[in-house]
Formats: sequence, C-alpha cells, structure tokens
Amino acid sequence: MKINILTLFPKMFEGFVSESIISRAIKFGAVEVNIIDIRDYCFDKHKQADDMPFGGGNGMVMKPEPLFLALENLSGKVIYTSPQGKTFNQEIAKELAKEEELTIIAGHYEGIDERVVENKVDMELSIGDFVLTGGELPAMVISDTIIRLLPDVIKKDSYENDSFYNGFLDYPHYTRPAEYKGLRVPDVLISGNHKKIDEWRLKESLKRTYLRRRDLIEKRELTKLEKKLLEEIKEEIKKEEV
Ligand code: SAM
Repeated sequence: MKINILTLFPKMFEGFVSESIISRAIKFGAVEVNIIDIRDYCFDKHKQADDMPFGGGNGMVMKPEPLFLALENLSGKVIYTSPQGKTFNQEIAKELAKEEELTIIAGHYEGIDERVVENKVDMELSIGDFVLTGGELPAMVISDTIIRLLPDVIKKDSYENDSFYNGFLDYPHYTRPAEYKGLRVPDVLISGNHKKIDEWRLKESLKRTYLRRRDLIEKRELTKLEKKLLEEIKEEIKKEEV
C-alpha cells in the first residue's frame, strides 16, 4: 500500500516513519509512506501556501493551486483531515486498509480552500470533536491505524483481539511476574488450560464492554456463548451491588 501525506510541516513526520512498528512496516515493504511538502508545489517567489480569507476575518487559508497541483500526480482516494468530517474509527480503518493508494491532506490555519474539498476530496475524516492546530497528528493517527492492519505488520490474532475489531473492548492483559507487591495475576491465566483462558478472556472482554461501552454490545449480534456469558456477568454485577 502507498500512503501519500500532503503537509506544510514534513518534519513532523520524521519520528513517525522512523520508529517502532511503522518504521518496520516501511522497511519490509508493507507500506510506502510518501511525505509530500506542499511548498514544493508553490511556485511564487516566497513559496506562499496560504493567503487571507475572502470576506475578511482572522486566520489564513491554504491556497488551492498547490494542492490541486500536488494531487494531479497522485491516484487513489483523497482524505482531508477535518474536525467537520466523519469520525474516524476501526471500521473505516479496515475499509481503507484494502486500498492500494491513499492520499491524506493535513490542513493548517483555518483549513484548506473549499474548492479543493469540493473537487478533489473523497472523504473528510475527523479524529474527534476537538480542534487541533493542524492535520498532521490526525494524518498520523489515521495512517498508523491503517498500517497496523496491513498483512504481516503485526500478528493477525493480535489485532483481531484488539478493542473494536470484533465489536467489543479488549480483555485485560498481564505479564510476569505472576505476583508483584502481593498483587497476583488471575489464576486462570497461569493454569495452562487454554480453553478456560479463552473463555475468561471473552468474558472479561464482554464485561468491560458492558460496563464501559454498552452501545457496542447493542450494535453487535451475540453468539450463544456470548449471550450466556453476558447473563452471568449481569448476575455477578447484581450480586456485587447488593
Ligand atoms: N476552521 C476549522 C474548523 O473550525 O472546522 C479548523 C481548522 S484547524 C485549526 C486546522 C486544521 O487542523 C484543519 O484544517 C484540519 O486539517 C486539522 N484538524 C483540526 N482538528 C482536527 C480533528 N479533530 N480531526 C481532523 N483534523 C483536524
């Protein structure tokens, strides 16, 4: 897969592409991350990428020409990071991970000229109901989420157990030592009984989702086992409340 990121601040991506799992994914060829400096498409003397808004008011607006020019050489879907977009989530990430090429535009200042949005952008994506100074962090958030779903970047059964992937939150995790300052890990996890461990994990996953994100349970059709475990959880919670 190829992810192009159009930005006025390419240096912000240096750490992103050179560290940890993303760096490894790039090295073994699962993804090519192409950071494009929008100023390379600004051909005036001062390489000006932004200008004052028509109609007056505060803040600058990113000019249309450099973005139109930069997009001319690129193929695939174009995403604009925007607080006004659809809220990004794991479902959207799964869909986007199927694309061969994607371009993400990181806005800055008041945002980009609306003509780019209307004529060149396929999807506006927000990372939440808050406003950042620029789209660079959202572009990293979106690409990171997509890249870890690409083949062989991380183990499939690892991301399949992650929160949201199957509609539930993840179960709790523990590592060595089995006892630390008198705090023990649940016995079942050191029992060696994998059937029991799987069931414990599923139940914990359901319990967390029921307690923290009931909306996710309502969206998801439950299997027979999940229904049974959920009933047990409700009973246990009732008993704890008494
Ligand atoms: N005037 C814009 C508005 O109120 O909708 C906000 C502009 S913001 C200061 C500058 C840029 O940051 C945006 O063009 C966008 O690319 C990015 N941005 C800010 N918050 C974002 C969010 N929650 N999700 C995605 N991108 C965001």
